[in-house]
Amino acid sequence: MDVEKVLQAAVAATEAAGSEFSLEEVRVRYLGRKGELTKLLKGLGQLPQERRPSVGAAINAAKDELQSKLDARRIALASEQLAKKMATEAVDVTLPGRRPARGGLHPVTQTLARVEDIFVGAGYQVFAGLEVEDDYHNFAALNIPPQHPARAMHDTFYFADGSLLRTHTSPAQVHVMEHQGPPIRVICPGRVYRRDSDLTHTPMFHQIEGLVIDRGISFAHLKGTVADFVQRFFERDLDLRFRPSHFPFTEPSAEVDVQCVHCLGSGCRVCSHTGWLEIMGCGLVHPTALSMSGIDPESWSGFAFGMGGDRLTMLLHEVNDMRLFFENDLRFLEQFN
Ligand SMILES: [Zn+2]
Repeated sequence: MDVEKVLQAAVAATEAAGSEFSLEEVRVRYLGRKGELTKLLKGLGQLPQERRPSVGAAINAAKDELQSKLDARRIALASEQLAKKMATEAVDVTLPGRRPARGGLHPVTQTLARVEDIFVGAGYQVFAGLEVEDDYHNFAALNIPPQHPARAMHDTFYFADGSLLRTHTSPAQVHVMEHQGPPIRVICPGRVYRRDSDLTHTPMFHQIEGLVIDRGISFAHLKGTVADFVQRFFERDLDLRFRPSHFPFTEPSAEVDVQCVHCLGSGCRVCSHTGWLEIMGCGLVHPTALSMSGIDPESWSGFAFGMGGDRLTMLLHEVNDMRLFFENDLRFLEQFN
């Protein structure tokens, strides 16, 4: 009979439907207003009276069966689709996350912090001072009066009002002497500026100066302090030598050389084959500098020293070109994080 055949075809089409869309097409084709089963039902009137109830019942049963097959297939399709989606769009929560890139301190900043740590451990205060100074604190109070030849060496940046960018960190020491008075143990790290730019000079560079003022301070205290600092900074026992020198702010004055950290004294390109590297200038504070800041040189004495933060960084990391520290090439700087 027709109903049975139509039902079989409809069920086969339902099972074959691969999507919601094609499933809906099957429903319309068989159960829609002009669908095949619907047409059979409408054709009942042409059958003999006595057959109508049984054929009608068979058609309705077929419609019900097809509807339940369609429903089952719709659920199966939905769960298939969900499974496929889960498989392709899955997030593997066990994968490591993407870390944000982390910045780091500049190697020169790290050096300044390293020097500060060493001296703070020895009871020193840290005072950074001001980068814009007046002539008095940058020069006159440091025993560098007008017309003094040392001024010419400083290549100073002046502002219109006569103030200037400090050419060294020494004015910070003057402020400490003026405001605090002895005894003093202070370390002054920071940026300084000079109108100077070539292979070995940059208009901005870093200095670290130290000042100790107390009763009975002698050159022996200075030597001991420098030796202890060098040993802690380079974490090695290196020979030192003090060469007589001259600075307006100190008397007597010396320059300190350390055994070359690269060749340990046998001679190399870094030390120009001398076996020594100059690391600081130092001396006992000049009595004139003490009295200008209101400290009686008859009762107090002291020593001062100054180093280049950039140069110390080069020596510590065995980098031979200072410009690398100012080019801000991340490939270079990242190595120090
Ligand atoms: Zn060397």
